This record gives sequence, structure tokens and C-alpha cells, in this order.
Amino acid sequence: MKLSEIYKNNVKPIFSFEVFPPKNGNAESLFEELAKMNRQKPALISVTYGAGGSNRSTSLEIVKELKNHLKQPVMPHFTCVCSSKEYIEKYIQEIEELGITNILALRGDEPQEIDVCYRDFKSALDLIGYLKLHSELEFAVAAYPEKHPKAETFNDDIDVLLKKQELGAKVAYTQVFFENQSYYDFIELCQNKGVKIPIIPGIMPIISYNQLIKIVELSGTKIDSKVMQYFEKYKNSKEDTIKAGIEFASLQCEKLIRFGIKGIHFYTLNKAKSSVEVIKNITL
Ligand code: FAD
Repeated sequence: MKLSEIYKNNVKPIFSFEVFPPKNGNAESLFEELAKMNRQKPALISVTYGAGGSNRSTSLEIVKELKNHLKQPVMPHFTCVCSSKEYIEKYIQEIEELGITNILALRGDEPQEIDVCYRDFKSALDLIGYLKLHSELEFAVAAYPEKHPKAETFNDDIDVLLKKQELGAKVAYTQVFFENQSYYDFIELCQNKGVKIPIIPGIMPIISYNQLIKIVELSGTKIDSKVMQYFEKYKNSKEDTIKAGIEFASLQCEKLIRFGIKGIHFYTLNKAKSSVEVIKNITL
């Protein structure tokens, strides 16, 4: 099913799960987790594409396996940074030959050794411009409720999102955030500028305190000090942290649903339990 059909006129929020290709290439445990996720009937499963192209071939292998085994649509992420036009052409062709209909089109983060990069595609806009002309794929794009760290202003960022919409993006998935107000403010700015595509919030139920610290450090995601303290309290117990993460994400999602979102995209980190529990809590 294509993205435009998935998010067409849905009254209830649609759930989707993001997974990443296992580093050791062994998909067995991922499949066990996916079986648990699938009981919640997600609308789609998205598969990340390695930062800096570190696991391109595993990514395609996993996409192939998931496509063959899952009933749900599989949406590969794809980043164009540092890839040659020939490579991108070949990858897109392979994706289409698998019968994939949707892709999350991204620029990707530039690696440290930038001088060894191809510069054929400089931004996500170049990639989606290519997709529009040379493929039948429908594409989703990334959005940043707290601004992309490299963008100078929110205005610049939203102008880019608007261009992505004009080029045919069907939906945007957001970077993870923990403060709903960031999302509400972002949606208002987007609507004022004419962004009409669904902007699906990306939610990550916290499963470890160290992971939370890492996310905040790496992405600069805002988090209230009280929330930080709340998770710090449980940092020595994995079980309690997972419980607290489920509680926090459930509350976050309940409020987002009241706000009127069309879907929730779960950053699962390849673990089903927390996202599944959150869905159970909010759909009861
Ligand atoms: P673009 O749309 O080209 O840029 C995004 C915004 O950043 C623009 O609005 C622009 O204002 C600003 N910007 C970017 N670079 C600069 C710059 N140099 N100077 C000024 N402004 C700049 N990464 C992966 O490697 N693999 C994945 O699978 C993956 N999945 C993701 C899924 C989601 C839902 C999201 C939100 C992000 C994901 N990322 C992934 C991260 C993404 O690749 C990075 O955030 C990347 O830096 C920007 O990609 P983009 O497609 O948003 O780029």
C-alpha cells in the first residue's frame, strides 16, 4: 500500500515502527520482535539506512527479508549524502524490483572524512527531485520539531519542508522529541507556511537512562529537567526504567492524540515491548 493511501482520511491514529538492520546481520531476533509488533497491526515498518553508509548491503538484505515475510508495507530509509548518482540509481532500481512502493528520502549526516564524498546529491531535495522523475516510489521525508541542528532558523527548515511537499512528499516523520509543546509549536508554524502533508510524531519510549543521555547529547533534543530527574531515579533498574519509559511515552501519545495527530511513528530500537505497551495503553 502506498503512503498516500495509508494516511488517507484515517480517523484513528495509524501506528508505524522503525527498526534498524542488526549490526551482526543476524535477523533472527529482529524477526521475533517484529512478530510481537505485528500483533498491533502497524500500517508500516520502516528500516533505517546506516549513517555514513556503514551498512548499506545489510540494509538492503533486511529490507528484502522483511518484504518477503511481512504482510505490512516495508519502507526503507535511504540517504543520498556521499553517494554517487550511479550508486543511487542502482539502489533505487533494486528497491523497486523488490516491489517496494514507499521510501523515506533523506540527506543523511555527513561523515567526518567529507573530502572522500561524492557530491552528486547535496540534500534530500536533490534525492526527491530524482525520485519524482525516475521512479514510481512514493516518498516520505524528515521533519524537525526542534529544528535541524544545522539549520539557522525554523523558517529555513520549514521552507525546506514546504519544498519537499511541493516536490511530492506524501508524509513527514519527525525527529524524536520529548516535549510535546515543541511539536505543537512546529505544527502551527508549518500550517501558517502552507505545509499540509501529515507530520507524524516520532516517539521513542525510553529503555535506558544512558541511552536518554546519549540522545539528548547527540541530537540536542529538549527535555525538562524534571523528566530527566524522573528517569534518573530509576537508572539502576532496567525494569523500572522500561516501566517509566512506557508511562512517559503513553502520556505523551495520549496528549498528541487529543491534539489530532494522524499517526505515531515508534523508534523501537528493535525492541517491541515498550512500543506495544504504549499502544495498548492508548487504545484501551
Ligand atoms: P535535508 O532535508 O536536506 O536537510 C534538513 C534540514 O537541515 C533542512 O531543513 C536544512 O534547513 C537543514 N540543514 C541540513 N544540513 C545543513 C547544513 N549543512 N547547513 C545548513 N542547514 C542545513 N539518518 C541516517 O543516516 N539513516 C537513517 O535511516 C535516518 N533516518 C531518519 C529518520 C527520521 C524520521 C529522521 C527525522 C531523521 C533520520 N536520519 C537518518 C537523520 C537525517 O539523515 C539527518 O537529520 C540529516 O542531517 C538530515 O537529513 P534530511 O533528509 O532531513 O536533510
